[in-house]
Amino acid sequence: MNGYRGAVDRSLETHVSQAVDVWLAWLPRWEPATHRGRVAPCRRCFGSPILSAAGLGADVPHGVQHGLSIRIKTIVDHAVADYTARNLPMLQTELDQQAARNRSRSYRPAEGLAPEFEGLPLDPDPDPDSPFLFTLAGLAEEADAGVPALPPLTEEAKAALRQEVGLADDYANMIGREVCAILLHHRLRIQSAISEYVEPQITAMLEELSRTLDAPFDPRDPLA
Ligand SMILES: [Zn+2]
Repeated sequence: MNGYRGAVDRSLETHVSQAVDVWLAWLPRWEPATHRGRVAPCRRCFGSPILSAAGLGADVPHGVQHGLSIRIKTIVDHAVADYTARNLPMLQTELDQQAARNRSRSYRPAEGLAPEFEGLPLDPDPDPDSPFLFTLAGLAEEADAGVPALPPLTEEAKAALRQEVGLADDYANMIGREVCAILLHHRLRIQSAISEYVEPQITAMLEELSRTLDAPFDPRDPLA
């Protein structure tokens, strides 16, 4: 391993460690969601290697997982953006043009959200009994349609761009694997925080649920 890679590893270690710190500081404020659960699994969390490296399995509530997976994903995204800016000029130009196009949209509801909400669907699950008059995703689509499309690329440019996208993907996979290896060292403090702040709330919820199931009718209720 040369000196440059060593520097990248150390900065990744610092960023992952800081992201875990911030997530641990947030965790005591977590509460079980009382609203109806979502039907579709979260595309950021479902089957995420980041979450398995962190030891946050499917038995951990999604809200708890999401706050960590998004923060770690942001680290990977920044590393890839940095690599792209330094090494992949065609892809960088394409991304700059897309970013400029995005900035000219009048309505961007998915931007500037707290990590706990980032990447989640903008709207609640549709309820067939009461259709929405409008959805945030629909409004965003309308705003997007009002902005002119980017000029088409030549076949040659497309091929070059595809190659750079492949390199960016490879880099993202490599950083992802490194981040997972780093997370293994944080498993113990993640696990002890789950035991302290999350498990008691889940146990209490399950006890409440079993009390409700044991006594479906209140004998004092005149309607029962
Ligand atoms: Zn999620």
